[in-house]
Amino acid sequence: MRRASPKFGPKPVPDLSAPLPAPRAGVLLPRPLAGAYDYKLPSGDNAPRGTLVTAPLGTSEMLGVVWGPAEGAVGDNRLKLAQPLDGAPRLPEKLCDFIDWVADYTLTPAGAILAMALRSRGAFEPELRRTAYVKGEAAPPRLSEARRRALAVAQDGLARSVPGLAEDANVSTAVVRGLVAAGALVATTLPEFAPFAAPDPAFAPVTLNGEQGRAAQALREAVAAETFSAHLLDGVTGSGKTEVYFEAVAAALATARGSRSQVLILLPEIALTAQFLERFAARFGVRPAEWHSDLSQKERRRVYRAVMRGEARVVVGARSALFLPFPGLSLIVVDEEHEQAFKQQDGALYHARDMAVVRARIEGCPVVLASATPSLESFVNASGGRYAHHVLARRHGAAELPTVTLIDLRRNNNDCSHRLAGRDAVDTALKAQWLSSPLRAALQETLAAGEQAMLFLNRRGYAPLTLCEACGHKFTCPSCATWLVEHRYRRRLACHQCGYETAAPPDCPECHESGTLIACGPGVERVAEEFAAFFPATRYAIASSDTMQTRGEIQGPLRAFARREIDVLIGTQIVAKGHHFPHLTLVGVIDADLGGADGDVRARERTFQLLHQVAGRAGRADKPGTVLLQTRNPDDMVMQALARGDRDGFYEQERAFRAAAAAPPFGRLAAIIVSGYDGEAVRAVARELAKAAPPAKDVKVWGPTPAFYALLRGQTRERLLVQAARGVDMQGFMRAWLAAVKVPGAVRVTVDVDPVSFF
Ligand code: ADP
Ligand code: ZN
Ligand code: ZN
Repeated sequence: MRRASPKFGPKPVPDLSAPLPAPRAGVLLPRPLAGAYDYKLPSGDNAPRGTLVTAPLGTSEMLGVVWGPAEGAVGDNRLKLAQPLDGAPRLPEKLCDFIDWVADYTLTPAGAILAMALRSRGAFEPELRRTAYVKGEAAPPRLSEARRRALAVAQDGLARSVPGLAEDANVSTAVVRGLVAAGALVATTLPEFAPFAAPDPAFAPVTLNGEQGRAAQALREAVAAETFSAHLLDGVTGSGKTEVYFEAVAAALATARGSRSQVLILLPEIALTAQFLERFAARFGVRPAEWHSDLSQKERRRVYRAVMRGEARVVVGARSALFLPFPGLSLIVVDEEHEQAFKQQDGALYHARDMAVVRARIEGCPVVLASATPSLESFVNASGGRYAHHVLARRHGAAELPTVTLIDLRRNNNDCSHRLAGRDAVDTALKAQWLSSPLRAALQETLAAGEQAMLFLNRRGYAPLTLCEACGHKFTCPSCATWLVEHRYRRRLACHQCGYETAAPPDCPECHESGTLIACGPGVERVAEEFAAFFPATRYAIASSDTMQTRGEIQGPLRAFARREIDVLIGTQIVAKGHHFPHLTLVGVIDADLGGADGDVRARERTFQLLHQVAGRAGRADKPGTVLLQTRNPDDMVMQALARGDRDGFYEQERAFRAAAAAPPFGRLAAIIVSGYDGEAVRAVARELAKAAPPAKDVKVWGPTPAFYALLRGQTRERLLVQAARGVDMQGFMRAWLAAVKVPGAVRVTVDVDPVSFF
């Protein structure tokens, strides 16, 4: 792990080869408690680390895991009994070690991390069996037409449920039951879940080009070495990174021996699309197992179980898949490794990319980080030689990188410029507000050529602020003090922080004037409205996370665009990532200055990454792409680097900035967030924390200051920031500090090691 100082390492793990002093053990419960608790085990039971047990806690029974030897000297009669589960399932030992490591690093109780690894409660229960029917020997006495049809279908020998056969044969379930009663169909049992078919590494390999081939070869060798190594697969969008790491996956599947046979591919939740799964199936013959927040309980149980038994060979998952009980990993891939979405922002604050590197090290297998715009951390690791660096410089085939042109909003289109900056006048249909004339001309040309276009704005809804022209009243969230965003299609005003919503009122609630409320600034819905006014005959759709709540609904507009049922896609981040649209040749960015979070250390990097990704959607096949960036800061280093296509120039400059500021990865950061409903108590704890900071060399403590969201969901929030030199034992420092302050129950203190957002 690149940030680990020599002083800092995983907690010493008990000697696991020595038999535990049965019959007692320390059992970790999936709760944010201090550590493992001692329990008795049934006599004669040898329960090694990882053994799953049910353990009484208070008045309830809960699932727990044998974590190590018992510690206390409590007499046997005072200990409660923990009972190993039927069939003695166990979490792999290396997963237990990983959980300890993550807990230690993030200063989170190990039980809270364990809870993430036990996400499927039902996975350890005995498998249910289903009854199904196959054709029997006996012939039914009376053969109606319906019965004949049902038997004809059953002729294939497949086992079906009663409703299943009824549906396949288009008969009623009564007909099928009649055949069962007559003995013409006989019962059999099926496993609860369909098994996962093994992906076939030889199913449909592609012929790689030269630079792809070299990268793939290096990754294959790393897999064959069966030992830890870290790789940055750094290739421009469309260069074939996915094809290359698929070769590493194929190698892992083809050469895997013994229990080292599984592969984990981590994707940001938003990139985990049907398109990706289908692409995997096209290469390997079957879909991989998937793991993400939208799975049903049942599907969760199926995948968890199959992973634990080594039957699911490849899992494609969002960050939480990192805590699945793989008995033997031979490869981990983190695609779009720069994505901020890999950092979990509530509960245990861990960064899945960084922890993937840790898990690979514990498992003793390679990890591949793939991106067209790596995080500066990974870029520095790769150029410093800590990670192997595999560069794919060219798009595959005829595709060329798009040309990027800046549209200076200050000169080019005055009406757009002042409106993007702030207040607008009354809406007038055909007066351009957000689409500058060069962008409209380019849209015209693209559509006339029968090609597709995408408009991108990093802002959901219709307008980010609603204001009364008469009295100046602004609509804000009652519990967050943030502006309410207008969602015109739904006629709602919504808080994007807490989800509070209210109907959009016709009149000002403050001065009661009517017709004085004006929408300020654009969201995607408003851009779409203007687009439709200028291009009334063009088919378009909006893709934004709040017009589309479920994963399935997100796919709709994207699929329609891929099938060319629409010509223009107008969207937020959702459209920026990973998609491949061969006929998309024009990308228009409505407000390029709205990229990253203001003022934080990664703002430039994030803006660059986002715009580079969006731009990368254009011209991915044989037709060249054009990208137009509307900006009020055309001289900014990010805009300049994008226009020149000088990615590495941007990275070098950014590296120099960060090094000079001792910002990550050249220094370490940790944040403390103090929150609670009682503002005074929160501020008092924050002040006390600031006073109690232990003096330490090369450590600076800033704050407390009100957080960016100083009021969130009704809670007051204060922040402190710790900045330390790279060699400092941050965890040790934080532990000593936190131990020095007593925090009342009504105030919460959250530690965020390596924060990526500063709200
Ligand atoms: P990246 O992940 O770097 O954005 P992809 O792996 O998605 O790039 O490749 C871009 C497109 O080019 C995909 O449609 C992919 O199938 C195709 N492609 C890349 N390399 C090859 C190859 N060697 N042979 C055939 N098609 C390829
Ligand atoms: Zn008013
Ligand atoms: Zn709110």
